[in-house]
Amino acid sequence: MGAGDATKATSLKEFHARSIADREGFWAEQAALIDWHEPFRRVLDYTNPPFTRWFVGGRTNLCHNAVDRHLASRRDSPALIFVSTETGAERTYTFGELHREVVRMAAIMRELGVRRGDRVLIYMPMIPEATFAMLACARIGAIHSVVFGGFASHSLASRIDDASPVLVVSADAGSRAGKVVPYKPLLDAAIGMARNKPANVVMVDRGLAPFERVAGRDHDYAALRERHLDAEVPVEWLESNEVSYTLYTSGTTGVPKGVQRDVGGYAVALAASMKYIFCGNAGETYFSTSDIGWVVGHSYIVYGPLIAGMATIMYEGTPLRPDAGILWKLVEKYRVTVMFSAPTAIRVLKKQDPSWLTRYDLSSLRALFLAGEPLDEPTARWIGEALGKPIVDNYWQTETGWPILTVAHGIEKTPTRLGSPGMPMYGYDLRLLHEQTGEEVGVDQKGVVAIVPPLPPGCMQTVWGDDDRFVRTYFSTIPGRLVYSTFDWGIRDADGYYFILGRTDDVINVAGHRLGTREIEESLSSHPAVAECAVVGVADSLKGQVAMAFVVLKDPAQAAAQDARLALEGDLMATVDRQLGAVARPARVHFVTLLPKTRSGKVLRRSIQAICEARDPGDLTTIEDPGALDQLRQALGSRT
Ligand code: AMP
Repeated sequence: MGAGDATKATSLKEFHARSIADREGFWAEQAALIDWHEPFRRVLDYTNPPFTRWFVGGRTNLCHNAVDRHLASRRDSPALIFVSTETGAERTYTFGELHREVVRMAAIMRELGVRRGDRVLIYMPMIPEATFAMLACARIGAIHSVVFGGFASHSLASRIDDASPVLVVSADAGSRAGKVVPYKPLLDAAIGMARNKPANVVMVDRGLAPFERVAGRDHDYAALRERHLDAEVPVEWLESNEVSYTLYTSGTTGVPKGVQRDVGGYAVALAASMKYIFCGNAGETYFSTSDIGWVVGHSYIVYGPLIAGMATIMYEGTPLRPDAGILWKLVEKYRVTVMFSAPTAIRVLKKQDPSWLTRYDLSSLRALFLAGEPLDEPTARWIGEALGKPIVDNYWQTETGWPILTVAHGIEKTPTRLGSPGMPMYGYDLRLLHEQTGEEVGVDQKGVVAIVPPLPPGCMQTVWGDDDRFVRTYFSTIPGRLVYSTFDWGIRDADGYYFILGRTDDVINVAGHRLGTREIEESLSSHPAVAECAVVGVADSLKGQVAMAFVVLKDPAQAAAQDARLALEGDLMATVDRQLGAVARPARVHFVTLLPKTRSGKVLRRSIQAICEARDPGDLTTIEDPGALDQLRQALGSRT
C-alpha cells in the first residue's frame, strides 16, 4: 500500500491508533514520501530503550530531498523567497538557483576542510545564506548547529564549547525594527571565551556594520563563492541515523542541551506532517514568521516546505514594519497557502487597526497555524473571525521537531476547539500521568503530558554528547516508568481534546521563546553586586510571560536610593543583554534583602510567581522566613 492510501476513509483516532499498534507498518508507508538512495533494512530498532533508531540501514540525504529531487520537475519554480523589510532586499531563488547556491556553499565548506560528521555553527540573521549553509551542511553530512541571532556572546560561547565546531558561518549584522544589530563583535567575544575555538569563520558581509577580521581565521563569503561558481559537490548518502543537526534548548539547569536529530526519521516525519497536518502541496507557498534559530525555523521554514516541493518565505522583519499589513501583503503577493506564526505576533497585531487584515487578497490562504506558546481563546477567536480562515493551534517542542498535539486536516476535518491545541498526532503514544504515582489520570484531571517510547521519527535522538543526560532529563521523572516527560501539565476532555496548562519545571516562555530561569539567574549572579537572586516567569498580556527578577545585593545600601536602584537595575539588565541577549532580559529587577526559601534552602519560585501574578502563594508551611513574602509584595507595590 502506498503512503497515500493510509488516509482513505480514516478518522484521526483510527489513524492514530494504527500508528501505535503497527508502528513499523505505519512508518514504512510514510517512508515512501521521501527519496531513499538505499532502502532501509529495518523500520525500527528499539533494542536499547529509550534510544530509538528509525529506518536502520537506509541511506538518504536531507538536502537531496529538499532540493535536488525537485530539480527534474520544478527547477524553475520558486523555492526560497527572501524578503527583508529591514534592508528592502527581496529575491526569489528557484529550485535550480537554490541548488547552485547550496552547492557553492558546500564547496566552500569542503575547501575549509569540513568533513562528514564535523560540526558547523551558524550564527546568522534571516538571510538566504543561512539557509544555504544549513542545506550545504546537510548535503555533505556535516552537522549544523544554528544559534539564534538574538543570543549574545555568553550563550554563543557555551554552544561553541559544546558543539566544538570546525567552522562558524556568520554575518556582519542583522537588523531588527530598523536597528542594525552587529553580530561580529559578539561572535569574536564568544570565540575569545570558548575553549574549543573554531579554525575558520566565513563572514557574509551585508555592508550593514563594519567589522574587524582575524587574519587566517576569518574568510569573506563573497570572495570564496566566486571561486566555486561552477562547483560540483555530490550529495553524501548518509545512514538514516547519522546526525543532521543539533539545536540548543533551555532547561532547568544553566547549561543548554543540544537536541540531536537524525536524517531519515526527520525527513520522513516532516514529509508526513506537510501532508497530514499542514496540507501543503508542491508548487504552493509556505510562510512561517519564525526564525531559523528556533526549531520551527528548522522544520517549517527550511526542511519541511522544501521537502514538500513548496516555496518557502524567509522573512527578515517584524509584523509591524513598514505597517501592520506587511504579513498579509506578503500572503497576497506570493499566494501563500499555509502560514505559520506565534500567538505573540497575533497579539501584537490585535493592538493595531483591524482593517489591516482586510486590505489584501487572502484568498490563497487555507489556514493559519500557531504554535510555540499557549494560544489564548480571545486571540484565537479574534484572528479566526478577522481572517475568516481556520486557525490551527499546534503544540510541540524543540525536542520533538514536529507537532505532538493538533488537528490533522489531511486525515480528517476534525473541528478545532478554542483553547485546545487538539489531539495526539499519529506516532505519539501520549498519556497524562500523575506526577507522583505515575498512574494515568482520568478525563478532566490534570497530569504531566508524557510520551510512551519509542518516540516517533523526527524526535530527538539524544542530548548531543550526553546520552546519560538524555535519559536522566527526559525519561526519569515519572516514578517507576520509562516515559518521556514534556514537562508540561495537561488535561483532556471527554472528546479527547487536550489542553496545555503550563510547565512543570522552571522553564518560561517569553513571546514563544523558551528560556531557562536558571540561565538568567546565573547571568545576574555574575554581576559583582549580586549576592543571590531568583527569576520567575510572570503572566503578560502580550508576550505570554515575562521574566521577573528578585535580587539580593551583597550591600543592600547600594539600592537604598531611588536613583541608585534604577541605575543598578539598568546595569543588571545590560549584563543579561551582553551575556545571553536581549531576549532573556528581565522585564524588571526588584531588590529585596532576602528570598522566600524553604528551611532546607530551596527558593520557593512558585510562591514568588504566584505573588507576582496576585495569586495565592500556596502551601507555605516550609517557609523559613515569611517576612520574605512581605518584602516581595512591597517591592512589587502589590496589595495582595
Ligand atoms: P520550544 O521547545 O522552545 O518550542 O518550547 C516548547 C514549549 O513551549 C512546550 O513544552 C510548551 O510549554 C510550550 N508550547 C509550545 N507550543 C504550545 C502550544 N501550542 N500551546 C501551549 N504551549 C505550547
